[in-house]
Amino acid sequence: MIITIDGPAGAGKSSISKALAEKLGFTYLDSGAMYRALALYLLQRGIDPGDQEQVLPYLKAVDISFRNAHIFLNSEDVSGLIRTPEVDSASSAVSRIPAVRKWLTRLQQKMQEHGNIVAEGRDMGTVVFPDADYKFFLTASAEERARRRLAQMGYDKKDIVRFETILQQIKNRDKSDSSRAIAPLIPADDAIIIDSSDMSFGEVLQKILNIIRKEEKSGKS
Ligand code: C5P
Repeated sequence: MIITIDGPAGAGKSSISKALAEKLGFTYLDSGAMYRALALYLLQRGIDPGDQEQVLPYLKAVDISFRNAHIFLNSEDVSGLIRTPEVDSASSAVSRIPAVRKWLTRLQQKMQEHGNIVAEGRDMGTVVFPDADYKFFLTASAEERARRRLAQMGYDKKDIVRFETILQQIKNRDKSDSSRAIAPLIPADDAIIIDSSDMSFGEVLQKILNIIRKEEKSGKS
């Protein structure tokens, strides 16, 4: 079975996808981490992640894999290095290159060989797994996502200046992800859209589980 969870940055996709995979005993596929690992590789070598001519020759030298929910870049565990603001914007830039998307799409599709998966990203339900059994699009208002990120980073919720900066970064990344020509961030036609702005983590997880279990009982899949 394949379950896809797409949506914008900061909507809670990662924690929900991880928890769902754990509950169901499925493999968790974090496609964003793959774009991030590639971006890190390029940044470490001073290559402009937005420049297709510079990037493409390096793809042959890059091996990205998962082991026990950790991401490896040419056998080095880079899980602790890919969540920085520099990698945020570099991954968004490199993800606009069509040949990069094609290459990572193939790697992601290969993960089906490991059995049932929960796949998280931007184009899991639209491009990578168009025949997925369940497709969810998890979203929340930009303001709510900025509030969550502020709390996650340990800052005071009254820190308006920092809030505004984070809000702007979120809006910029949304714009970049939604406006790209290839695999833009949009819900699949058959995706179930969940707006988590006023929902707790537990409520979102339960809602998804209820949908899967109810449809299983009524004979889907
Ligand atoms: O999900 P995460 O924030 O880790 O993704 C990092 C970046 O990778 C996103 O901003 C997006 O540009 C890109 N991405 C993508 N397609 C995916 C997953 C991530 O383009 N399926």
